[in-house]
Amino acid sequence: MKEKLEELKKRFAVVNDLQRAAAVLGWDQQTYMPPRGASARAEQLATLQKLAHEHFIADENGALLNDLAASAAQLPYDSDDTSLIRVTKRDYDQAKRVPPALVEEMARVASLAFEAWHHARAESNFKLFQPHLEKNVALRIQLANYLGYTDRIYDALLDQYEPQMTTAQVEAIFAPLKKEIVALVRKIAHKADAVDAAVLHREYAEQTQWDFGVQVIKRIGFDFERARQDKSAHPFTTSFALDDVRITTRLSKNFLPSALFGTIHETGHALYDLGGRAELDRTPLAGGASLGAHESQSRLWENVVGRSRGFWQFWFPRLRETFPAQLADQTAESFYRAVNKIAPSFIRVEADEVTYGLHIMLRFEMENALVEGRLQVADVPEAWNAKMKEYLGIVPPDDARGCLQDVHWSYGDLGYFATYLLGSMFAVQLYDKATRDVPAIPEQIARGEFGALLGWLRQNVHTHGRKFTLDELARRVTGEPLQSRSYVAYLKKKFGEIYQV
Ligand code: ZN
Repeated sequence: MKEKLEELKKRFAVVNDLQRAAAVLGWDQQTYMPPRGASARAEQLATLQKLAHEHFIADENGALLNDLAASAAQLPYDSDDTSLIRVTKRDYDQAKRVPPALVEEMARVASLAFEAWHHARAESNFKLFQPHLEKNVALRIQLANYLGYTDRIYDALLDQYEPQMTTAQVEAIFAPLKKEIVALVRKIAHKADAVDAAVLHREYAEQTQWDFGVQVIKRIGFDFERARQDKSAHPFTTSFALDDVRITTRLSKNFLPSALFGTIHETGHALYDLGGRAELDRTPLAGGASLGAHESQSRLWENVVGRSRGFWQFWFPRLRETFPAQLADQTAESFYRAVNKIAPSFIRVEADEVTYGLHIMLRFEMENALVEGRLQVADVPEAWNAKMKEYLGIVPPDDARGCLQDVHWSYGDLGYFATYLLGSMFAVQLYDKATRDVPAIPEQIARGEFGALLGWLRQNVHTHGRKFTLDELARRVTGEPLQSRSYVAYLKKKFGEIYQV
């Protein structure tokens, strides 16, 4: 077994190198590449992704995986080797169903669609993006048909981001959650004036915001020897190796939370990647369990920690030293309330914790309708605005603040959005368990110490890499399946107290 396993790992290391090289090009495209580099970059990315795919689906890998499956079954389910074979066999069987030409085509179309989206958003002109989105949707329908599904076509797409989670499962979680959130939004709407967030819209010098963010994330545990931060239109995290993780942020002079919480959010993702084990690096088990698991880490640091009262007890005096004029009339408590203002808004990434879920449900429902043929791409802006009106009571004044705001559809990432809300739920489920295990965590956060929480997350979540599904991880770490009960209780308690509802 040992020799065959070593051979398999060597072969997967090549795949990993190709994928990580493609990630470097993708990162560069979103950060430093000059605009006219786009078409050459599209070809380079398509070539690398096709090569990675071909290397991964090589028949030799399939034979090795089959040979190893029997002996792996003798070992514990959670051992590194058994997990590698189990997880990779599933990846392999799926990838084998997809023709390399389709992978290449999806990459090429996505690269060009990204550039088109960029222009379309800048000009708030959906027509510029529409033909690209039509191609992306058509290619994802093809992909889903190659991958196969038993119940809903969307299952095949969702599975790419949240392995083994089905559309029906997500709908079963979202339906009761939607009722709770809508009820809470309505209650809070009657007390909209209870929180004044005007302070967040004063003028804050961008470089000073950047510097403050760096100070915060260093203290949380972001290691600039192993990671770096740059600027991009849409913040993201990507990882080239265990010791080379990248995050990006965007700065807004007149909206303080954009960079501040965006930076903490991406740091949560980065800490997950940085918390992996060297033994799993350069193998298919490197990285996070799923996108939902990944998002649990970013949302935990951004919201459960970053928007907590304790966090601002420590950081507010430092922020006021940084921006004395802008914050002269504020206290830690008033600032805590300001960053937790609940108000329907257009932009998902800037949405508050309560309304955020509705932004996700809107996208999840629209994607389902697109791939099931119930919605045409040309009708996306209208459908988007109708749902915004229904769920949040507001209509975006233009498509830049509506259906063009997110980068995902430009990449053809249909099936992705649900993971954001699953992650937000899991963040609370994890934090509840962490504080039961280590009750001192909240007091430490109020002293600006984050080591106990980060250590707990490394030990219970990060160390496993991609070994488990989100639900397996939830059961293993918290003793119960992924659930929304903790999340609803958290929202009701926190915002019930702030708004007295
Ligand atoms: Zn995220």
